[in-house]
Amino acid sequence: MNKTKIIATIGPASSDEATLKSLITNGMDVIRLNLTHASYDFCTDVIDKIHKLNEELRTNVSIMLDTEGPNVRVGKFVGGKAFLTKGDYIRIYMEELVGDSTKFSVNYKGLLNDVKYNSILKLDDGMIELQVVEKGTNYLLCEVIKEGVIEDNKGLNAPGIKLSMPFLSNKDRNDILYANQIGADYLALSFVSSAEDVLNVNDILIDLNNDHIGIIAKIENERAVEEIDEIIKVSDGIMIARGDLGVEVPMERVPGIQKSIISKCHNMGKVSIVATELLATMETNARPTRAEVSDVANAVLDGVDAVMLSGETTVGKFPIETLSIMEKIIESAEEDINYLELLDKAMRTEKQDITGMIAYSVAECADRLKCKAIIAPTISGYTARKMSRFRPSCPIIAVSPDINTVKSLNLHFGVTPVLIEDLSSFDKIIKRSKEITKSLMETTKDDKIIVTGGYPFKEVRHTNFMKIEEL
Ligand code: PGA
Ligand code: MN
Repeated sequence: MNKTKIIATIGPASSDEATLKSLITNGMDVIRLNLTHASYDFCTDVIDKIHKLNEELRTNVSIMLDTEGPNVRVGKFVGGKAFLTKGDYIRIYMEELVGDSTKFSVNYKGLLNDVKYNSILKLDDGMIELQVVEKGTNYLLCEVIKEGVIEDNKGLNAPGIKLSMPFLSNKDRNDILYANQIGADYLALSFVSSAEDVLNVNDILIDLNNDHIGIIAKIENERAVEEIDEIIKVSDGIMIARGDLGVEVPMERVPGIQKSIISKCHNMGKVSIVATELLATMETNARPTRAEVSDVANAVLDGVDAVMLSGETTVGKFPIETLSIMEKIIESAEEDINYLELLDKAMRTEKQDITGMIAYSVAECADRLKCKAIIAPTISGYTARKMSRFRPSCPIIAVSPDINTVKSLNLHFGVTPVLIEDLSSFDKIIKRSKEITKSLMETTKDDKIIVTGGYPFKEVRHTNFMKIEEL
């Protein structure tokens, strides 16, 4: 049982039922659908298949929808692409036209005002760089600094520039309504740059009466990095979106930012996700590079909750192989995690209340007694989330009668959520805990488990008991 969770983005290379099934059996915990590229029809079809497979395989794979956010894109080109030559001057028009190697358009008129003379604009993940040399009435004249081929609808980043684009477009608003209607478990918000952005989305969800969707703020520009503490406070989790982040800030800063965000999330009891290019060469190769293996393992050793695959599973040639290699790297790295150090760190930043003290004791006890598992019966997921923060060395099996709670725990490190019939009597829960442990792992009758939660179930809101049991 892996503790670090795996999110796989689903695209044309992975949307058929057989591939989805193999991804699940190889350890995928959450699917991501990227609304920048995927249509509602495509998403609905994949989500239906996941529901069906969850029933068939008795799994609880969760659904994450990812918004486009305030993202500037170039328009279309004659023949779908154009070569921009170093030293050439090209015009970026604020109204729609079909581009070529001397001009193209963007989907955001305000760019004209937002950028300054000499601003650098990066196209297609920084593959091409332009510098603004003159502003016309409806165009920017730019010099090509770094040349390359640009294709239809590729992204445009303006590093360090605060765009006055609203955080949510009409499309984003519709996407949030769609996520609500389709019963998504997580909503990933692209290009968040303040806590207010997250709170605005939260307000929309409250109006929709949706208290289930977990909000994941994607950190992919300088402002978000500056505002990180405030953003973490109001989000359920943070995604270190290294693709755009590595264009918006100098690439060499990304590893430091990543480590710092993972640590802050752990301190604040929020989920952290490392995304993009983890096993990028596996888009075309059956094997990753040593450096990629090391990247995944280091994220695990730093205490990340989840890692995410993008191109590897959306368009790559080896989606299933990528999943199984990811799983192997994680499994091996988890053996080298310094659990006691993470436990100490959690304790130093935890409130000294009843829940905190029980969770700490459970984690320490599980480690010293070499317990097989910690079982957390939970209505809201509270006990399981707390336990996860204390990073015990054994799995935390969260048992809940609420399917929404079960699905909401799929990004938390170390938590295996299981749906149960009911949380009724204490004795029944202890008995069920033993049965569930035996069904999920190999055990002997001398093995121990710790059951922890808040009792009376459904009445108390904090964690107040731990019970050590032999199987
Ligand atoms: P994206 O986000 O795949 O939606 O662009 C991740 C990233 O930017 O790294
Ligand atoms: Mn991005």
